[in-house]
Amino acid sequence: MKAFEFVNPSSLKEVPALLGQNREKAVLLAGGIDLLGELKEGLIEPDRVVNLKAVSGLNAIKADGKGLRIGALTTLAQIEGDPTIQKTYKALADAAASVGSVQIRNVGTLGGNLCQRPRCWYYRGEAFHCLKKGGSTCFAVDGNNKYNAILGGGPSYIVHPSDTAPALIALNAKVTLLGPKGSRTLPLEDFFVLPGEILRRENVLAPDEIVTEVEVPAPAPGAKSVYLKFQEKDSMDFALSAVAVALTMSGDTIRTARVVLGGVAPKPWPAKEADALLVGQKLSEDLLRRAADAALAKAQPLGYNDYKVPLTRTLIQRAVMAAAKA
Ligand SMILES: Cc1cc2nc3c(=O)[nH]c(=O)nc-3n(C[C@H](O)[C@H](O)[C@H](O)COP(=O)(O)OP(=O)(O)OC[C@H]3O[C@@H](n4cnc5c(N)ncnc54)[C@H](O)[C@@H]3O)c2cc1C
Repeated sequence: MKAFEFVNPSSLKEVPALLGQNREKAVLLAGGIDLLGELKEGLIEPDRVVNLKAVSGLNAIKADGKGLRIGALTTLAQIEGDPTIQKTYKALADAAASVGSVQIRNVGTLGGNLCQRPRCWYYRGEAFHCLKKGGSTCFAVDGNNKYNAILGGGPSYIVHPSDTAPALIALNAKVTLLGPKGSRTLPLEDFFVLPGEILRRENVLAPDEIVTEVEVPAPAPGAKSVYLKFQEKDSMDFALSAVAVALTMSGDTIRTARVVLGGVAPKPWPAKEADALLVGQKLSEDLLRRAADAALAKAQPLGYNDYKVPLTRTLIQRAVMAAAKA
């Protein structure tokens, strides 16, 4: 591994200048679950690693009548175990609880989970100079694409690996970023980008910006949310497909619906076609089937990942049903 300078900033406002404009030269470290892997595998070779954990005040969960504020250094274990999140923002608690293992959740942070890099084995494998690393080929297209995208892919077909991101987007979260000129807040949905927009990154973060906080508005009375994840093995595994659903109901009529897919697209995928079909309708098997079909209508599987289409259809139906009956 190449030697690098390890910097412990004494305040948050120092961090943007320490990161600077060249993201290949300086990187941010939070829990290190993903970043240390990238360093050890030689995927990144920075001159400087900026230790965000040296900064205080970024690891709190604050809840009041307006909603929830979660600092970027809050661990996934804190989120999973928080009684307010378990009760009122259940999709988020379940998504955090589904990540990796207890050890990973005790160390991994919310900011790191949102900003983690792709898990595609061609990106992670040193033998493949893929599009995400500045090469000219997405090896998944003609290769083993079992885990790759069925929606929103091209020219790269990674899937976004975060479990918390789809849940937070279903819950209408916003994210605050700090840069050299101050803070900006945007809907979390707009934080993530497709490879067709920015090929080598998965979000709009500038090289010298950091995620400082995620805000989730208080849900309407009676709102329910669910996160369902399908993984190949029971622990330490990323989603083959996942569905976050947030609903408000009037009796058996759906008043508002937000369905967001994970594990199937290069960014958390809002299934707006499903939302539009569900709103104002009474829950029925036919409605669930039509909503799930609409969400997958534009799917373009690559060969080895065709199974994700029926899998995701089924998960959507189960998740909407579970949220409506919760
Ligand atoms: C075996 C294994 C299984 C896993 N399973 C899952 C899973 O099932 N689901 C899942 O979602 N994830 C999974 N992960 C990924 C891991 O949980 C996340 O990467 C973790 O949450 C990262 O958090 P961290 O604090 O360790 O981030 P770090 O490794 O410190 O950082 C990750 C990336 O985010 C950047 N970053 C960190 N914090 C910030 C910030 N505040 N602002 C801007 N950029 C930032 C870093 O520069 C780095 O590029 C798994 C990882 C492993 C090794």
